[in-house]
Amino acid sequence: MTRRATARGEERSSLHGTRADVLICGASFAGLAVARELAGAGAEVLVVDRYEIGERATSACAVPTPWLRAMGVERSIRQELPYMRFATPHGAYRYRLPWSWSSFDYRELCLALWEQCGDARFETAKVHGRTGLTVHSDRGDLHAPLVVDALGWRRVLAGGDGAGGFQPPDAPLSRGLEVHPPGGGEDLAIWVDRSLVRRGYGWSVPAAGEERVGIGSYDPRDHVKEPTRDLAHRLERDAVRYQGNWFPHRLRPAAQDGVFFVGDSAGHCLPLSGEGIRTAFHFGIACGAELRTVAGGARSREAALRRYGRFSARHARTYGLLLRGQQLLPALPPRVLTLFLRAMSHPRVVERAFTWYLAQAPPPSPAHQTRTETPAPRPAVVGFSAG
Ligand SMILES: Cc1cc2nc3c(=O)[nH]c(=O)nc-3n(C[C@H](O)[C@H](O)[C@H](O)COP(=O)(O)OP(=O)(O)OC[C@H]3O[C@@H](n4cnc5c(N)ncnc54)[C@H](O)[C@@H]3O)c2cc1C
Repeated sequence: MTRRATARGEERSSLHGTRADVLICGASFAGLAVARELAGAGAEVLVVDRYEIGERATSACAVPTPWLRAMGVERSIRQELPYMRFATPHGAYRYRLPWSWSSFDYRELCLALWEQCGDARFETAKVHGRTGLTVHSDRGDLHAPLVVDALGWRRVLAGGDGAGGFQPPDAPLSRGLEVHPPGGGEDLAIWVDRSLVRRGYGWSVPAAGEERVGIGSYDPRDHVKEPTRDLAHRLERDAVRYQGNWFPHRLRPAAQDGVFFVGDSAGHCLPLSGEGIRTAFHFGIACGAELRTVAGGARSREAALRRYGRFSARHARTYGLLLRGQQLLPALPPRVLTLFLRAMSHPRVVERAFTWYLAQAPPPSPAHQTRTETPAPRPAVVGFSAG
């Protein structure tokens, strides 16, 4: 049984009235990437999450290995996977990628990121919403001139219209479920098989003695439990240790009403593949870099919001293309899809396609890698001027 680490009841003192320079809500991939970028910036950073860091694994199987290296979290790698295997009912093709995937340990990855977050403070608190830049939580109201929503697809801090009308199943969300039985293998395998899931795909990701077997449905109305069990059964694996969630497939404004949105809360999960971890890192780094300039007094909050919002929006073409791919995939006759996968399997095509795919959110250059904790001089006044 999982030990419950998050403090409850009397252990949870009030945080009411707490002030920070930067308040990051959500301590998973996106929130920790933002906090990491602020190490040594001289700003008081408060990170809150309803659970302790790394306590409750977000469903996640694999990340491109170059990204794990760039973030300085190699120690979380469980298994490196240089090959992908794509299967339909009519054939299967194995691709050697120009880069590899790695399955990882969620807790280890989060702790390794947190170690790079310098003097940032962490508190467990459940966030309910906000009024202006006051964030309401179960431990009281928190105040900061710079507020980040890294809370996942619910986009809790959107408020008003931003949150309205964005509930499954009538929302641009996919749904995923996976099981984690003991198992093995060498390939990250994908099945596109309508007898499993009408609009979506199945996967199996080896993780050194464990196998992560799951189903993603682009249609949030379709259930994924039976298909997940079915795929596990076909692979002769036990359907144990379930983990699931919704994940977005449409980009949303990353800066809205004075708040920075990062990761799933901004729809940063890629359509078609459902890959949202490296994009949470990618946009988290961009957001953190903007906040750093505000903390250093070099830019106003409004300018940082505009720049970060534009940076995110510049990716709209990629998201649009992948969304079209996601709409096309279930419409293709299975034999045509099989021929397509065969054509794709030529090494030069694999090289070009996967190099393009990684380049849509590329790992940062070495200059950006593992954050040191060298403290910067604390500015006298953090630059929060509007405009
Ligand atoms: C089954 C499944 C498998 C997946 N596999 C992969 C994969 O292999 N590779 C990949 O790249 N992507 C994968 N994804 C997508 C990926 O998990 C998400 O895109 C990614 O987790 C987004 O990161 P995030 O930090 O934005 O949000 P999250 O990881 O969802 O983190 C949100 C954080 O906010 C906290 N939180 C939420 N609400 C509150 C609240 N009210 N108060 C306080 N804290 C709160 C949560 O506890 C959590 O720590 C998968 C998704 C699913 C569902």
